[in-house]
Amino acid sequence: MPPKRPDHLAPSTTDRPRFGAHMSIAGGVHRAIEAALLARMDTLQVFVKNQRQWTAPPLDTQDVARWHALLATPNFGPPVAHAAYLINLASADRQLYARSRQAFADELRRCQTLAIPYLVVHPGAAGEQTVSRAISRVAAALNRVFSEQPELTVMPLLETTAGQGTALGRSFAELGEILHQLDEPDRAGVCVDTCHVFAAGYDIRDPSAYEAMVAEADREVGLKRIRCWHLNDSRGDCGSHRDRHAHIGHGHIGNRGFAHVVGDPRFGGLPMILETPKGDTASGRDWDRANLQRLRTLATRARRR
Ligand SMILES: [Zn+2]
Ligand SMILES: [Zn+2]
Repeated sequence: MPPKRPDHLAPSTTDRPRFGAHMSIAGGVHRAIEAALLARMDTLQVFVKNQRQWTAPPLDTQDVARWHALLATPNFGPPVAHAAYLINLASADRQLYARSRQAFADELRRCQTLAIPYLVVHPGAAGEQTVSRAISRVAAALNRVFSEQPELTVMPLLETTAGQGTALGRSFAELGEILHQLDEPDRAGVCVDTCHVFAAGYDIRDPSAYEAMVAEADREVGLKRIRCWHLNDSRGDCGSHRDRHAHIGHGHIGNRGFAHVVGDPRFGGLPMILETPKGDTASGRDWDRANLQRLRTLATRARRR
């Protein structure tokens, strides 16, 4: 099947956010969309293969056909993929670096087959290296992947991180440095995770701190590069550098912080994805539905203001 060119590459900023959640692909990729539609999501995020393994069998052609049929549902999308956590595009270990780059290239091709326009990836961990050395390695990996696949239209999105350990991406300046070293900078973008930026020290509960963060993001990476948000509340406090997701309104960020993001017209039309724990069958509570409901209420209220 020829790769379909994603038609979501230029999001409209006048639209409402596109709310969705990370969904399981157990039983085939199409299962994830089925569940997302059932939960009345606007979009979703998926892994494009088992995220705990380096390699995976090719996507099943029937599953891919079912995925495309469901993706054509009016008003649904744009879908987002998340890269495997094993991938470290900054690794100083030659073998791990090569493996990471190859696995990442494979995931980009899978996204192309599934007409998924964005692949979110953690920028990587520096380990023993200096931050600037690690940043150069990430840029070199992306440059190579892009030059080897000139036809690829999928956009990797570098995700902000909580800055735990030696993780890159604790500030927009770090992401900006990677982007500035790209030969084709327009082929990459940024995903902002609310839990991660908050844990990294951006206090998005406070209106002026939120504005300052957006101004910094604009200066360092450019707002047009922000193509996706991850909406997670935080179990750790601001500046804790702890990556622990909480349900919307149940963590340290709280409803006020999320109102700033979902009501911000500069990010209208973008996929905003929950990566919060799923419902537990014991209590019968469907957390995705509860979190979506809360986000939609906050977005509607913010619009009325
Ligand atoms: Zn995230
Ligand atoms: Zn996280």
